[in-house]
Formats: sequence, structure tokens, C-alpha cells
Amino acid sequence: MPKRLQDWIAHSKNMVFFGGAGVSTESGIPDFRSQAGRELALRQYGYPPEELLSHRFFAARPEIFFAYLADHLLHPQALPNAAHRALARLEREGRLSAVVTQNIDGLHQKAGSRNVFELHGSCERHYCIACGARYGLDWLLTRLGAPGVRHIPRCVCGGIVRPDVVLYQEPLDPDTLAGAAQAVEQADLLLVGGTSLAVYPAAGLLSHRTGGLILINRTATPYDAQADLVIHDSIGEVLGRAVP
Ligand code: ZN
Repeated sequence: MPKRLQDWIAHSKNMVFFGGAGVSTESGIPDFRSQAGRELALRQYGYPPEELLSHRFFAARPEIFFAYLADHLLHPQALPNAAHRALARLEREGRLSAVVTQNIDGLHQKAGSRNVFELHGSCERHYCIACGARYGLDWLLTRLGAPGVRHIPRCVCGGIVRPDVVLYQEPLDPDTLAGAAQAVEQADLLLVGGTSLAVYPAAGLLSHRTGGLILINRTATPYDAQADLVIHDSIGEVLGRAVP
């Protein structure tokens, strides 16, 4: 078996990448689930992120939900990093069939990736909960007001326009999940990066794996012992070096 990441990638004909928050933090997007993210949410709004981003909270306190969204979850200036670029290039070269991501920032698509399974949806897309009309991020940004005077975005029909992301208490989209599982099953190599694999549905997805497993994360994960190669380092630096 190859010992180096470059050799694994060179020998693979059909890779799939599965990524978490660590892929986005290297583009300057803070992880709202991290300890610092939790403390900030509690200090500023009095609730932890999993409460602020729950379906129940969205329905009951939309003014606080949208203030949190606008101030801490939308990052329109963020740019793809070396990890996003390397993955887009592998797909262009026909060696990577899919990216599966837990992130909601759309940076894989901005880097040029096409087949992206967004398990938790995307802040690039928004829709009216009354009539279903669709809106983009640029539209939303003009409706959210300014820090301190945030507004609830409203459709022309009067309905609230919400992000097309999976809130806590909401199910993942079954088609997206099934597509991601199938891609993982068919891959000869699963590259996992920027995730501690603690968040649902990471474990379920990994169980579909039939090929090699490479883990790239700054800290250890519960799956390190099962992996063919483990690299505890920055996902952007590692992929940037392996796919120059
Ligand atoms: Zn509407």
C-alpha cells in the first residue's frame, strides 16, 4: 500500500472527499460549533448555537435567529483556499467524483467543484416559507439591515425567507444523503478532511466505504485506527502540497 498521500492520490481513479468545518476555517470562516463559537453565541444572544439554529427557535424568535445568521454565519467575502482549489482540480482531471461537505458556505462551488453534496444545505440559497419563492444570498444581504438593527427578510408575498440549510431538529435531505452514500460506496479512496467526525451523519457515511481511507485533520478522530493514512495537519497545506 502507498505510504504517501501523493501516491494514494496518483493511484486512485475515483476519489471522494468528505469535509467538515476545518475546510472552511482555513478560509477565515469561524466554526460556530467550536468552544469559541459557543461562548460567543451564549455571550451575545444568551443561547448556544444548537438552540439558535434549531427549527423551534427559528419559528419562535426569528428576529434573534436572523441577527445570529447575519452577524456570524454569512461570510460573503470568504474565498476558497488551497484545499477547495485542489479538490476542484482533481474533479476537473476526472479523478475525484464528488465532494461531500458539512459546510454551508458554497466555497467548493466557488472553487469550481461541480458534484457537491451539501449535507447541511447552503447559505447561498434561500426560500420563502409561505410560497416557496427562491432568493440568492445577494438579495438576502440587502434585506437583513445592519449590525444592531437587523431585519427579518420577507418575500414579496409577506412570508419569511429562510436559508436553505438544515436546522437542528430538521432531517437531512434524503436524496442528498443517498447520493453522498452512493458516491462514498463507489469510491476507491475516501479522503476525509477538516472534521473530527463527531457530527452526524459522518459515522453513517464512513460505514459505506469500500476503498481506502485517508484522514487529514489537525486533531485525532475516533477513526484514526481504521485509516490507511492519518495526517494531523492543515487540510489546505496538505492538499495544496499533494495536488500542486
Ligand atoms: Zn413568498
